[in-house]
Amino acid sequence: MLYSKLFPKTLKQVPSGAESVNHQLLVRSGFIDQLMAGSYTLLPLGWKVYLKIENIIREELDKIGCQEMLMPLLHPRDIWDKSGRWSDPNVKEIMYQFKDIHEREFGLSFTHEEIVAYILSKFIKSYKDLPVLLYHFSTKFRNELRAKSGILRGREFIMKDLYSAHISEEDMWQWYEIVKKAYVEIFKRVGLDAKVVEAAGGVFTKGHTHEFQVLAESGEDVIYYCQKCDFAQNQEIYDGEKKCPRCGSEIQSASSIEVGNIFPLGTKYSQALGVAYQDENGKSQDVWFASYGIGMTRLIGTLVEVFHDEKGIIWPESVAPFTVHLVGLDLEEESIKTEAEKIYKLLQAEGVAVLFDDRVGPSAGEKFSDTDLIGVPYRVVISKKTQGKLEVKKRNEKNTHFVTLEALVKMVR
Ligand code: ATP
Ligand code: MG
Repeated sequence: MLYSKLFPKTLKQVPSGAESVNHQLLVRSGFIDQLMAGSYTLLPLGWKVYLKIENIIREELDKIGCQEMLMPLLHPRDIWDKSGRWSDPNVKEIMYQFKDIHEREFGLSFTHEEIVAYILSKFIKSYKDLPVLLYHFSTKFRNELRAKSGILRGREFIMKDLYSAHISEEDMWQWYEIVKKAYVEIFKRVGLDAKVVEAAGGVFTKGHTHEFQVLAESGEDVIYYCQKCDFAQNQEIYDGEKKCPRCGSEIQSASSIEVGNIFPLGTKYSQALGVAYQDENGKSQDVWFASYGIGMTRLIGTLVEVFHDEKGIIWPESVAPFTVHLVGLDLEEESIKTEAEKIYKLLQAEGVAVLFDDRVGPSAGEKFSDTDLIGVPYRVVISKKTQGKLEVKKRNEKNTHFVTLEALVKMVR
């Protein structure tokens, strides 16, 4: 991609009203644009990061046998009446509900349990049809009161939600653990160290759900976790113990961002929406459910909250919009321009994703502050001084060094 053609360019000023780091940096660097509180466009750079994350998740979920689909966002009231959630005061606070001109009532999706159960009620007949794990990436709408944390909290945001259906509680828990492991792997690949945290919000049995929390000063949540083992609980259910109930070590607390949440749901939705299967003896049984969410756009914001410095974003390589930011300096000199263009094409031919700052005019300082702001992992400079070599600097390191094209390609692969 030529930087001269990239839409839009970086901004010099912090946008007014942008309080959080992710909001400021993502807007200034041209990754997102705000429509209103809690509502953002993912601009071309932001969309590239989004797709990288989406692909990682798709790979990990498909690996364990999940199937991707896409469900509608406009839901008729009667399906939500079946579970009783349409009239639940807590739901009414966050769900956008309205009538059309024919007085028909609709809601905008803030989650999809009812819709999945409705679909399964049509197609699940026998124990042979189970288990089934279905997911989609799609928009969610929530009437959030506090929509001030940039893309960490949207009124309209993208979620990956997965729903699993099972013949028994035992099968549900078995898959719950498989998905939990896949989630840990997903966050690791995205570059984040997410803690698996016990949380409130369960609808049956002992009532635990599990959240995936990333430590960050700006996080709205507080978690308590063991210094030694993997015990961790959300503040909402933490009973104040100073020592870890599992290993006796010190408990410490920290602010964190919830990037994912998984819920064992039991048979609540299958009973409400009539999702049943025939067991081996021909007897009708309720289907067991669990659901699993990842905040896609919140993940992008979390990455920025965790990986930035005073100059800009520092993307992990696995999700960066480009791998190399090639900066051409002294491009008014024909020989340098020709060389820079040649390197740009050669890198592309090697399959390296390159953003090439091909602008003639801006100073080296201006170009470097743009590369630091955008946060591509490798900055590669070609100028009068580099004399046929490539000057490389990693975004998260101070030192520059000179390499050949072959060495660079090896380095970034
Ligand atoms: P929170 O406690 O932050 O309001 P939640 O517990 O209500 O979130 P879930 O219903 O568990 O959210 O949704 C699954 C995931 O979707 C969350 O773990 C989070 O990463 C993401 N998410 C939830 N609400 C929002 C939002 N308003 N904007 C962006 N992402 C969100
Ligand atoms: Mg949650």
